[in-house]
Amino acid sequence: MNRTFNFYAGPATLPLPALERARAEIPDWENTGMSVMETSHRSKEYDAVHYGAMNLMAELLGLDDDHQVLFLQGGASTQFAMIPMNFIPAGGSADYVDTGTWSTKAIKEARIIADARVAATSEPDGFKRIPKRSEYHLDPSAAYVHITSNNTIKGTQYHEFPDVGETPLVADMSSDILWRPIDANRFSLIYAGAQKNIGPSGVTIVIIRKSWLEKANTNLPTMFAYKTHAAKDSLFNTPPTFAIYMVRNVLEWVKEQGGLAGMEARNRSKGDLLYGVMTEYPDFYKCPVEPESRSYMNVVWRLPSEELEAKFVAEALEAKMCGLKGHRSVGGCRASIYNAMPVEGVEYLAEFMRKFARANG
Ligand SMILES: *Cc1c(COP(=O)(O)O)cnc(C)c1O
Repeated sequence: MNRTFNFYAGPATLPLPALERARAEIPDWENTGMSVMETSHRSKEYDAVHYGAMNLMAELLGLDDDHQVLFLQGGASTQFAMIPMNFIPAGGSADYVDTGTWSTKAIKEARIIADARVAATSEPDGFKRIPKRSEYHLDPSAAYVHITSNNTIKGTQYHEFPDVGETPLVADMSSDILWRPIDANRFSLIYAGAQKNIGPSGVTIVIIRKSWLEKANTNLPTMFAYKTHAAKDSLFNTPPTFAIYMVRNVLEWVKEQGGLAGMEARNRSKGDLLYGVMTEYPDFYKCPVEPESRSYMNVVWRLPSEELEAKFVAEALEAKMCGLKGHRSVGGCRASIYNAMPVEGVEYLAEFMRKFARANG
């Protein structure tokens, strides 16, 4: 097999066993003589996949009975609108922590629907850090507080979640869901497009507090109301069955690897390797992110010039590593090292970085 070490930010690398299982099962799945893609979403075989994925997600995150897992469509970007539609009451507002790009977009969408306040922002620092809890100016009557747990483009990540008291806490975890054990029950809503850390594009995972959902706005278009999907276990209309099947395969793999504790051990060693190389070559590789806010999912760095950055990306590609160019909005280099990226892939990149620094520094 000729697999590339794939550092794309998303869609991103998937665990090989999850892919191989799909390959084996496509022509004839569960002795049905067809693939999961061709099967009714009302069949008992699909039911096992659907509830299997849902239950595994709840098990891995340790969800309590007041939390429910939903499989929706439209990407994390649709959640930017659905959350305020469902949860900001008429005349009310919500608080947002702005950590750049995706959270900025979430604020923009919320403002189309209702009032969204910026309770804290690291914009004056170029979003190179996560604001501290002491910097928040919260509105006690806010419908919720929204954070973005990992900032895929800026390379920052929350290493501690803020205490916001009684106000419901909502998080966009698109690029770090399941990266380590967390207290998921603290959140009233967690959402994540699957294509970074848990599967292919096409399905969005939403974890919602049922007792909060009861208070949601009514009189919304059917498909935009969480209640519609929660009442039917995400089978109100046709769900993205193949994407959910792949998520199920990935979650089984996560469980086999020791669950979220296993993921955290892998992910910490991978991130430490790359940040370690930057410490070894401080004049050559510079991480723009403040140390305590550095992401273990998306590691970003600059080289001494844009020419060297382009050369780095091109030579890495020749060495069978793709996706190392930083996002077009920020430039530089970025390695997305989600759960499925093996430690060997990051060791290989770290060694390449050392050689490149010695040859070009
Ligand atoms: C990728 C990403 C998004 C956008 O996801 P879509 O599924 O493409 O809408 C939103 N938030 C974060 C943190 C992301 O990384």
